[in-house]
Amino acid sequence: MSSLPILIAGGGIGGLAAACGLARKGHRVMVVEQSAKLGEIGAGIQIGPNAFHCFDYLGVGDAMRAEAVYIDALRLMDAQTAEDITAIPLDDPFRRFYGNPYAVVHRADLHGVLLRACVDSPLVELRTGQRVTGYTQDGTSVSLQVDGGAAIRGRLLIAADGLRSPIRAQMVGDGPPRVSGHTTYRSVIPVARMPEDLRWNAATLWAGPKCHIVHYPLKGGAVFNLVVTYHRDVTEAIAGRPVPKEEVAQGFEHIHPKARQVIEHGENWRLWVLCDREPISNWVDGRVALLGDAAHPMLQYFAQGACMAMEDAVALADCMTPDGADPEPALQRYQQMRRVRTARVQMNSRLIGEYIYHPDDAKAAVRNEIMRGMSPEDWYRQLDWLYGSNGLAAGMSDVA
Ligand SMILES: Cc1cc2nc3c(=O)[nH]c(=O)nc-3n(C[C@H](O)[C@H](O)[C@H](O)COP(=O)(O)OP(=O)(O)OC[C@H]3O[C@@H](n4cnc5c(N)ncnc54)[C@H](O)[C@@H]3O)c2cc1C
Repeated sequence: MSSLPILIAGGGIGGLAAACGLARKGHRVMVVEQSAKLGEIGAGIQIGPNAFHCFDYLGVGDAMRAEAVYIDALRLMDAQTAEDITAIPLDDPFRRFYGNPYAVVHRADLHGVLLRACVDSPLVELRTGQRVTGYTQDGTSVSLQVDGGAAIRGRLLIAADGLRSPIRAQMVGDGPPRVSGHTTYRSVIPVARMPEDLRWNAATLWAGPKCHIVHYPLKGGAVFNLVVTYHRDVTEAIAGRPVPKEEVAQGFEHIHPKARQVIEHGENWRLWVLCDREPISNWVDGRVALLGDAAHPMLQYFAQGACMAMEDAVALADCMTPDGADPEPALQRYQQMRRVRTARVQMNSRLIGEYIYHPDDAKAAVRNEIMRGMSPEDWYRQLDWLYGSNGLAAGMSDVA
């Protein structure tokens, strides 16, 4: 095996998961991150059983299970009428069916578990404060160009540098991401600020015309994660801009007061304008491959972007031979394994946004009628293709 490391551009959830997976396979890895400090934004994230299958593969399953908050249900409410439409119970039958739980976790805690695994591995080197700009390759190695520094040579390059990946721009050249125009506002508040009648141990989705509200507990129930989304047809891609509460509240006059309370109780709101891309068929160029949002950015409506990045990491590690022989065919196998599944989740994320999160009138009535009639077992079967796998093999679930 060449003595050069495998380079990973980006130290987010996808990049660190890839580093864990490759190191467990015996490969030397160098992560190159632009930020001065490795970390994640202060917000929550939902993680399905498929992500837990990945944590197990990556050797951090127990550490992640210790950080997670185990909610009782995924609850769907009608934001206009405050009707309880349906709930997917996340109890023992759910866990038995999929072999792992559904949970929520603070992003920093998830990222922290992966980071500890990387720091503890003698095979992982973490470099911060270095912005990658592009690559060249010669058939036996890759040179990663870094802003203001000497190029770094590696055996392979995995680009986990997110939505605006410069590596993707060079490889695929499909321009900036598609701006959906949907604005998402996020806030994390102490439990004492959360209205008592909404302190549910559930990931709750209030679905309304062209808008929705999500809330769930984090940090053992000490805080609540709030997410408020509205179609404002914004054309500029914005990430994490602080905004006043008045902006968040605009356009929610038609929502039931019980749901609207969430907006009133939030503080320190930040704004994201959601972006995604069309699925693509090729994200490998010789010794360079994309991973996570760099490869298949999606809208948040399936709560699967990070889960897919971790599945990518598992697939990548699985495709690499322990001696690192024939890395180019290994990257082709990785892409082949991931292409259809990630495209399916990208496309479903848009559809779910339109038909479950944001429909109006007749479409909302159809949603309510279909979903009211679904039993837990119906949900298990509907979601088995997704939650029953770590992306390597279908049918990991223990079908009841
Ligand atoms: C509102 C919202 C809610 C979401 N909720 C969920 C959810 O509940 N569940 C879920 O699974 N997913 C969710 N997602 C999606 C999830 O956040 C992303 O899919 C996931 O973070 C992607 O991880 P990544 O590592 O591929 O990219 P990123 O998290 O974007 O990480 C990229 C890393 O690369 C670094 N980087 C970027 N450019 C460079 C460069 N030029 N040089 C060096 N480093 C660079 C960045 O600093 C960063 O550290 C949500 C997304 C949004 C917007």
